[in-house]
Amino acid sequence: MNAKRQVPYHRPAIGPDEEREVLEALRSGWITTGPKAKQFEQEFARYVGARNALAVAHCTGALHLALFAIDIQPGDEIITTPFTFTATAEVMGYLGARPVFVDIEPDTFNIDPRRVQAELESGRHPKLRAILPVHFAGQPCDMGAIMRLARHHGLKVIEDAAHAVGAASPIDGRGLVKVGLIGDLTCFSFYATKNITSAEGGMITTEDDAMAAKIAVASLHGMDRDAWKRYDSSGSWFYEIHDIGFKYNLSDVHAAIGLAQLRRCDELKRRRQAIAQTFNEAFGAEPALQIP
Ligand SMILES: *Cc1c(COP(=O)(O)O)cnc(C)c1O
Repeated sequence: MNAKRQVPYHRPAIGPDEEREVLEALRSGWITTGPKAKQFEQEFARYVGARNALAVAHCTGALHLALFAIDIQPGDEIITTPFTFTATAEVMGYLGARPVFVDIEPDTFNIDPRRVQAELESGRHPKLRAILPVHFAGQPCDMGAIMRLARHHGLKVIEDAAHAVGAASPIDGRGLVKVGLIGDLTCFSFYATKNITSAEGGMITTEDDAMAAKIAVASLHGMDRDAWKRYDSSGSWFYEIHDIGFKYNLSDVHAAIGLAQLRRCDELKRRRQAIAQTFNEAFGAEPALQIP
């Protein structure tokens, strides 16, 4: 096969807007977490309509922090899907928790709420704490059903929205709700191959201010938020360490790429939809293939 004619796995769409934002960050004299990361959080919160958005180094860290925020303990169990990237279940291991894998629906590739219900009613999992659905390839899970089950059984919901920035799901009594406003915590990825990219990066959204505050502190060594200002004339040299934390802050250079990409999110989505339609039209009539 001629390698030149192979469809590439993924090429990021980086243009002059990304270059301009990154140059601005590089020339500002401030390259790690600072004003660009803060602006990325604000613009992302506005895009989703979320009350809190916290920028982090990657979605893996976002998922870890989300589990930390709901106080997952060793031995706890979390329902999730086996049809995902390894990070979804990997982070459970960071905290000594265990995944309970529930199979997917064949037509959506998403976790099957009926099988979740069966697992919940089996009585086999007294240490269940949460459900962690994955919106595979950007198609949202049946979040109406998942939220109903979680609330009925007293479980938290953390969404792995690594592929699902800009997606929405119908919720009882609320109509179509954007991913990022549904579960207790939602984790997005800006890895190089995702819907929008910051090369490496992630975001957590939540409507819960207490959890947002806990994550903000935990994401940078347990320091009080805005400790980065300790180098700045507007801040103070004084900061406190409140707890053991993690090193999950997003640099301003990465946030700068993310800012430019976020503004192009809808444009990139339309382009992706057009490409998907081309594939569907090309392969839809082929009886050996099933078009997702
Ligand atoms: C990519 C991905 C992640 C991890 O994202 P990073 O930003 O690379 O840490 C988590 N879950 C799913 C479903 C993913 O595809």
